[in-house]
Amino acid sequence: SVPLAFFSGIGSGSKQGILFKGGLALEALKNIKTIVMDKTGTLTHGNFTVKTINPTNNYTKEELLSLCASCEKISSHPIAISIINEATKQKLNLKTTTDNQEIAGEGIICTIDKQKIYCGNKRLMQRFNIALPDDLPINAGTEIFIGIDSKYAGSIVIDDTIKDDAKSTIAKLKNLGLTTAMLTGDNEHSAYAVANEVGIDKVHAKLLPEDKLKKLSSLRQEHGNVLFVGDGINDAPILAGADVGAAMGSGADAAIEAADVVFMNSKVHSIFQAINISRDTIRIAW
Ligand code: ADP
Ligand code: MG
Repeated sequence: SVPLAFFSGIGSGSKQGILFKGGLALEALKNIKTIVMDKTGTLTHGNFTVKTINPTNNYTKEELLSLCASCEKISSHPIAISIINEATKQKLNLKTTTDNQEIAGEGIICTIDKQKIYCGNKRLMQRFNIALPDDLPINAGTEIFIGIDSKYAGSIVIDDTIKDDAKSTIAKLKNLGLTTAMLTGDNEHSAYAVANEVGIDKVHAKLLPEDKLKKLSSLRQEHGNVLFVGDGINDAPILAGADVGAAMGSGADAAIEAADVVFMNSKVHSIFQAINISRDTIRIAW
C-alpha cells in the first residue's frame, strides 16, 4: 500500500505548480546527488531576440533574415521562433520552401527557388562543407550561420535571458551538497556565460542529443544519482534515462510526456521545492 504521506507530498507539490506523476518519483528524488540541467528553456527563458544580422557582401540584412526565417518556418525550436518574430516585425515577405529537413541539435535545410539554404550551427556548416570565414568575430550570443548552395552567406546572432530565480536556486542546491551541471547543444561562449552567471559547477557545450545521454551517465557515475531537468523535444531520451526526469511546463509535449515530474510554473526554483517535498514526504512516510 502507498503510505498516506505520499498523497500529501503530491498534494503539496500541486499547490506549488509541481506535478509528480506518482509516488516513485517522490521517493527517487530523495536519493538524488546530482542536478543536470539543459540551458535553453530551462535556465534561460528560451525567448531569444535577434541582436545582429551579418550578411556577406552579396546580400542585404533583410534578404538574409528573410531567407533564414523562411527556412525556420518548419521548426518549433525557440531559435526558429525568434527569427520568424524578427522577420514579422520587419514586415519581410517569407518564401515558400521545399525539401525541408530539420537536424536536431544542428539546424534546418531547405530549398528556395532551386537554391539549397542551410541555417544552423558550425556543425551543420561542416556537415555540408560550407567553409566559414577565418576572421569570424567572437559573439556573445548564439550564432546561426546561413549557407546558400555551398557558400557562406552570413550569420544572425540571437540572445536569450537567464531566468530570475536561476542563480539563487543553484546556490540553494549547492547548499544541500548537490553537484550541479549543465548540458547544452549551444556553443561554449553562451554556455559558459550562463553557467558563470548562475554558478553552475560543470559545463558541457556543443553536445548532440545522443552525447547528452552519454554525459549524463558519466556524471551519474562520478557524482551519484541524477535529476535531469530539460524542456526540449531532444531532451525526451535523457529525461527517460535519468534517475528522475523533470520537464518545464513551457516545454515540448514529448519532454512533458517523458518526465517523472513536471514544473508547471516553469520556475527553476521548483527544482529546490521538489527536493524538499520529497525529503519531507519520505521522512514522514517511513
Ligand atoms: P539546447 O541544448 O541549448 O537546448 P539544442 O540541442 O536544441 O540546444 O540545439 C543546439 C544547437 O543547435 C543550437 O544552439 C543551434 O546552434 C542549433 N539549432 C538547433 N535547432 C536549430 C534551428 N531550428 N535553427 C538554427 N539552429 C538550430
Ligand atoms: Mg533545450
